[in-house]
Amino acid sequence: MKGIREQSRAVWEEQQLFFQSGRTREMDFRLQQLDALRNAIKKYEPQVLEALRQDLNKSEMEAYATEVGYLLEEIKFTRKHLRSWAKPQKVKTGKIHLGSKSLIYPEPYGVSLIIAPWNYPFQLALAPLIGAIAAGNCAVIKPSELTPHTSKLLAELVADTFAPEYVTVMEGEVDTSTALLEQPFDFIFFTGSVAVGRIVMEAAAKNLTPLTLELGGKSPAIISEDANLTLAAKRIAWGKFLNAGQTCVAPDYLLVHESVKTELVSEIRKTITSFYGEDPLRNLDYGRIVNQKHFERLTSFLQEGDVIVGGQTDPASLRIAPTVLDGVTWENAVMQEEIFGPILPVLSYRDLAEVVKMVNHHPKPLALYYFSENRSQQDTILEQISFGGGCINDTFLHLATPYLPFGGVGNSGMGSYHGKYSFDCFSHHKSILKQTTRFDVSFRYPNSKNGLKIF
Ligand code: NAD
Repeated sequence: MKGIREQSRAVWEEQQLFFQSGRTREMDFRLQQLDALRNAIKKYEPQVLEALRQDLNKSEMEAYATEVGYLLEEIKFTRKHLRSWAKPQKVKTGKIHLGSKSLIYPEPYGVSLIIAPWNYPFQLALAPLIGAIAAGNCAVIKPSELTPHTSKLLAELVADTFAPEYVTVMEGEVDTSTALLEQPFDFIFFTGSVAVGRIVMEAAAKNLTPLTLELGGKSPAIISEDANLTLAAKRIAWGKFLNAGQTCVAPDYLLVHESVKTELVSEIRKTITSFYGEDPLRNLDYGRIVNQKHFERLTSFLQEGDVIVGGQTDPASLRIAPTVLDGVTWENAVMQEEIFGPILPVLSYRDLAEVVKMVNHHPKPLALYYFSENRSQQDTILEQISFGGGCINDTFLHLATPYLPFGGVGNSGMGSYHGKYSFDCFSHHKSILKQTTRFDVSFRYPNSKNGLKIF
């Protein structure tokens, strides 16, 4: 039996050979593979929903909307536009290059590596794959070991759908990732934590492999005094407690204008009851924490402030009720790391300048949500704070559209994807200047006397 390093090398070599054959670049081939992926997702849908229930207690509705249905829409969109995206794009040529044409040719990088996290374990492994296939690459997918049912199912689905020299899954823990990262892949797409993102980037640097990093961080939701508080509460609670708060773009904490804090909290309390019932831990469709370690990390935060909503926990089912935490400061551990669970600290502010300063004092967030009716204040936030992306008067939805690039900036990541941006993410854009041979401009050459020479 081969060791993990030899296995990784063999997979990489096999895929390199297949990529060199040129098959993956053919447009018909790419379209067929997208169709095959769509059909496989449909065929395996019941098992996928079951695996997500086992790994994270995702309800069918949530699992369909955020994982299965999302992927089917993304494939449909990509399929519809792919021929036009893949065409060489003609651009202007400067007057100085008289007689020539300029074109941009998208070409696949080659063999790509996709490393996925556990929170949307099906979607975040396959959404990048759509981009990889569309752009004409081969791909090795490394799912997260923390969601073993979904990881196993991904391996089965992919083996049933694609030739391994084209797309394959390598299941495993850190040693598998490490062995894969030693191979000179042509492109790496990593989704996960900031800490592991650094390790991946270091490994990529050894081979000068281009990469995209989709990371996390603390994403604020800022609620101004003029916001529609009932709507804000609903949209915040939805974005925060989806998947029990284990969402990279979930509002991590609230910054609310001090004059509306009490009312907002009361609206959030009402919303939680209307979404999950009086006792959310009895709600069979409310998600669970991925494992014991994360459960303990999260429950330790409950000691750090005053629990003003929720706070109930159930170690047996690894569940924590939607919780709002008051009385915390930036000194508390809950404010020093990404929470990634159903605990929502509330901080208050007096004026917007304070908010801008506070957020800018910390690493650039992956997402930011601002609730206000005031256009000029919205502009202040958008102009003065750097973050990956976000919404005005909503949460989460900026990532659910193929028309917007999704990604972070600074500590929250680099590069972006979704829709055409996924195609671009997995493509090198080759610049070509096609020169005329009908005439030549002699004065560009050293020591020339004549200007234009016509042949
Ligand atoms: P993680 O970084 O622990 O793991 C991600 C992947 O990296 C897994 O497949 C894991 O096996 C692998 N890995 C772990 N340690 C490694 C190492 N030392 N070397 C190489 N590979 C290693 O992240 P996670 O806990 O699975 O996911 C949670 C994090 O991901 C959060 O920070 C969240 O914000 C972020 N996230 C970001 C996005 C996004 O789109 N930006 C989406 C989902 C999650």
